[in-house]
Amino acid sequence: MVSAVMERTMSIAVNRVGGLIASPVALSASQIESRPLFGVEFALQSTITTRSNSAMDTIVPRDETRIMSDWTSIRYDEPIERVARITLARPEVANAQDYTMLSELNEAFDRAARDPEIRVIVLAADGRHFSSGHDLRAGTSMEGIDPVGTWCHFDAPGAEGYMATEAEMYVGLCWRWRNIPKPTIAQVQGKVIAGGLMLVWPMDLIVCSEDATFSDPVVAFGVNGHEYFTHPYEVGARLAKDMLFTGRAITADEALRHGMVTRVVPSEDLESETLELASHIARRPMIGLTLAKQSVNNTLDAMGMYTAIQSAFGLHHVGHNHNLRLHDSLVDPAGIAVIRSEA
Ligand code: ZN
Repeated sequence: MVSAVMERTMSIAVNRVGGLIASPVALSASQIESRPLFGVEFALQSTITTRSNSAMDTIVPRDETRIMSDWTSIRYDEPIERVARITLARPEVANAQDYTMLSELNEAFDRAARDPEIRVIVLAADGRHFSSGHDLRAGTSMEGIDPVGTWCHFDAPGAEGYMATEAEMYVGLCWRWRNIPKPTIAQVQGKVIAGGLMLVWPMDLIVCSEDATFSDPVVAFGVNGHEYFTHPYEVGARLAKDMLFTGRAITADEALRHGMVTRVVPSEDLESETLELASHIARRPMIGLTLAKQSVNNTLDAMGMYTAIQSAFGLHHVGHNHNLRLHDSLVDPAGIAVIRSEA
């Protein structure tokens, strides 16, 4: 009886949360959405193909026959020797992440990780904004998704099914990508909102353009933050609380001052600076890079990083279930007005 009620409630809530969380996505993407898709793509292609810089001249291009195009939400190519690049390719929605995109991302990371010719992986994004977060308008069904972790029973009633879904699709995938034994670099422009941080933060290095901003405003929804809760490790405890309590976006310069990003570069140099950094790193032996990465990650783990993430994830689901009891929704519906007014 209770299970049946909870199952129906969860179903309603998931539908509602889709509309609620999707709204800020639509807001931040409004300018892009107002233009035809082909126009955005054309502009992007023009930017890339007409860009000229001396750094690129020293980089050896890869065989174009190795460029992959099997995925629909991302692209995969090898722009320079020993470097794979994965690009978020949903600029019409500011690269909002649905489960298809997350699954394709995971497949692409696996491909790069398993390719013996690849030493460095770049994660880039099409359009003005790196990512506006999770696109739950697409729903939270795991149908058609092939899990790569051990979580299961995604359709179970009550808290069970949705917790398993978030554990698999959010925390599980992020932690998996964080542990790829090759250096990873995020190439970031524009806005990075909430779930967008969950793609940036698992990367080892972050190169961003001067217009980049970073925010996690979901405390307004009655939860603690996004699901991959590494905020204190990324920006320090004080700024983490500032970002979470206020929901404000920090600038690229502020992120640099707090060690959250590796370098800030002019927008027109973002791609070339990122590839130059990747090329420089890729000249080193794979074993040295792997051991260096693992040593730093082990240090973070000794500081309790994984345990902290799991603890916060448990509290995150206290928030979801609190909201379900009070608002019949996984998030507080009042949050949407707050986030909209401050976007
Ligand atoms: Zn959640």
